[in-house]
Formats: sequence, C-alpha cells, structure tokens
Amino acid sequence: MGPPGAGKGTQGELLARHLEVPRFSTGEMLREARAQGSELGRRAQSYMDAGELVPDEVVLGLIAEALDDTPPTGGFILDGFPRTVAQAQGLDAILDEREAPLDGVVWLNVPEEELVRRLTGRDGSENRTDDEPETVRRRIQVYRDETEPVVRWYARKGLRVIEADGMGSIEEIQSGLRRELAR
Ligand code: AMP
Repeated sequence: MGPPGAGKGTQGELLARHLEVPRFSTGEMLREARAQGSELGRRAQSYMDAGELVPDEVVLGLIAEALDDTPPTGGFILDGFPRTVAQAQGLDAILDEREAPLDGVVWLNVPEEELVRRLTGRDGSENRTDDEPETVRRRIQVYRDETEPVVRWYARKGLRVIEADGMGSIEEIQSGLRRELAR
C-alpha cells in the first residue's frame, strides 16, 4: 500500500519475482480492461480519468476472480488493493473462505512534493490517462481520505504493517523490504 507514485508497482513486481508468487494489481487490470474496450473497462474509465476510485464491487470482482485461479497455499502480492475499508472487509470475506489470511501489509511512504514530481513526470510508456497535475492532486487526496484509514484498520486488527521509506533507489528500497520480510 502507499500513495500514488510511491513505487508500489515497481517494488511489488520485484518482490513478486523474488518470492516467486503472482502479483495482482487492480490498476493494471483496469487499464487492461479499458484497453480491450470491455464493458467493465468502459465503466471504470471515467473514474480513473478523474482520479477517483472505481466502485468497490468492481475491483472486488476482479480480485475474487484472480484469487479463484490461485492456489490457497501459494501466496500472492496485492498491489493497489484494497484502497477502502469496504474493500478490505470484502477481501477478508474472500480470504476467510480460502482459510488463507494476509501475512502483512507493506506501506510505502514518500513526501507529497516528490509524489507530484514523479507522477507528472511519467513518460507515457504506461498508457496512463490520469497523470494531469490536477488529477494527480485528486488521487493523492483520495489516498489520504480513503486508503490511509485502511492501513490503520489493518494495524488495529493486529496485522503486521511494514513501513518503508520510498525515497531511496529502487534497489535500496527493495533490499530493505526483503530484509524486513525475512524477519
Ligand atoms: P493505480 O495504477 O494503482 O495507481 O490505479 C490507477 C487508478 O485505477 C486509480 O486512480 C483508480 O481510479 C483505479 N483503481 C486501481 N485500484 C483500485 C482500487 N483498489 N479501488 C478503486 N479504484 C482503483
């Protein structure tokens, strides 16, 4: 978990490769659905372009489907999900059924000025339409209002929350995460 631009995708991908587990990014799934022009993609587009969250039941459906195809014993990384407490509760219900709870939360932190710099400087190779400065500011606000409470919700439930500084180099951050996770 972490604000937009914290490096969740980059770090999550490296970690998934290292742990040899699948990674499920709802942001990527939604961008794919949009690129394919599916009904779901069309439904998600206006929310994404405005920097708002796509409705909970849409992303919960995507995650339920992805986990259905994943063995309960194998492990996985969720990237950019859950983003609301309702999503976290929905996820809990899915995981209860699998009898495979979460091990922990990785929380990447980066100061706001750096987030804006990173997000408005992306090179377009990710096929994103939500990098306008105004949209970026809205995405950060939505994160503060909706998603940060999820981290506190997990912490209150007693889940392990690993807080990581998202400022260093990609390699430094990744090795710090691996060290923490191995403890
Ligand atoms: P991301 O690539 O994770 O930054 O996600 C890009 C956009 O997809 C977000 O700004 C939201 O509009 C949408 N999105 C991704 N994941 C979620 C989620 N878990 N809940 C709601 N909307 C999401």
